[in-house]
Amino acid sequence: MKTFQLTKPKDGAQASAVTSKAKTAQQGADIRFIAGGTTLIDLMKLSVEQPQNLVDVNRLPLDKIEATPDGGLTIGATVRNSDLAWHPLVRKNYQVLSEAILSGATVQIRNMATTAGNLLQRTRCVYFRDTAMPCNKREPGSGCGAINGFNRSLAILGTSDQCIATNPSDMNVAMAALEAVIHVRGAKGERAIPIADFHVLPGDTPQRETVLEPGDLITHVTLPPPAPGNRSLYLKLRDRMSYEFALASAAVVITAANGKITRARIAMGGVGTKPWRSTEAEGKLTDQSATEATFRKAADAALRDAKPQSQNGFKIELAKRCLVHALKLATQSA
Ligand SMILES: Cc1cc2nc3c(=O)[nH]c(=O)nc-3n(C[C@H](O)[C@H](O)[C@H](O)COP(=O)(O)OP(=O)(O)OC[C@H]3O[C@@H](n4cnc5c(N)ncnc54)[C@H](O)[C@@H]3O)c2cc1C
Ligand code: SF4
Repeated sequence: MKTFQLTKPKDGAQASAVTSKAKTAQQGADIRFIAGGTTLIDLMKLSVEQPQNLVDVNRLPLDKIEATPDGGLTIGATVRNSDLAWHPLVRKNYQVLSEAILSGATVQIRNMATTAGNLLQRTRCVYFRDTAMPCNKREPGSGCGAINGFNRSLAILGTSDQCIATNPSDMNVAMAALEAVIHVRGAKGERAIPIADFHVLPGDTPQRETVLEPGDLITHVTLPPPAPGNRSLYLKLRDRMSYEFALASAAVVITAANGKITRARIAMGGVGTKPWRSTEAEGKLTDQSATEATFRKAADAALRDAKPQSQNGFKIELAKRCLVHALKLATQSA
């Protein structure tokens, strides 16, 4: 790991001012914020990231979880994943978020990991993490080792011929189904970015993963008030029950009464190059009976555009079954 300078800013304005001098906020940034360090330090040890300056956000007053006047929730950028998952308002109103976070990593990692850091965690594609291998995301133009290589865990939705890396976060999938908004303080002022617009598809520039620019400090995330009478849950399928990333997962937020679905928000994990909101599935569920046939139609719609690689074709049926089962669980006795 190369040596680096550590900056401890006194407030968000100073943190943003220091990082605004970076060449990029994307892969290869020379100045980076650091929060829990559970993604960044790993990548620095592997020489995948080599920032010269780390700007420590841990002492900024961004660690609160508070109800908003409209009944929603505001979550500070440095709130630890454990604190978020176990917060009474999250357990009561946003079960899908609590379950998604608790399904990820380990207790120790969740105690360090932060809300902003989780939003920005990087792919687990093995070629990205190995500097001896070609990887367009790490080194644009070098090729993609995964497309004709080991791609069992990689994406089937939102891929390009430059990159098929999966967004690995569980929290992001729940946030997508909850229609979270990410609040950023940047060189040009503050802005609020719906999570659907925050991560970008790889296209021809897989090194660019979000809309963030140099100087953009995530300050907090807001969740809208919970839809009245909704039930939500997160179902994660993986090779083993703990300490493992999703092969396929589903976050569902459903309102149903008398066997009929009146509102549905669906997002999928483990299958997309970004947290995968499926408005197609939502369309097949809304105003329909809560039956297995309806759930299957929704799952077919969600995976309609899936493009499998040599080793991950099994994910199409796995993801469909994951969504169908999550919907069954969420609508039981509705
Ligand atoms: C062994 C292991 C297993 C894991 N398993 C899972 C799993 O099953 N599911 C899952 O979802 N995750 C899993 N994770 C990932 C883990 O959740 C993330 O590493 C963690 O959420 C990152 O948060 P952090 O605060 O440590 O981020 P850091 O490493 O500190 O930062 C990550 C990125 O965010 C940027 N950043 C941090 N704060 C800000 C801010 N306020 N504004 C702008 N940019 C910021 C940093 O510059 C950096 O680029 C695992 C991690 C490990 C190491
Ligand atoms: S899938 Fe993306 S991250 Fe993985 S090797 Fe290809 S370009 Fe790199």
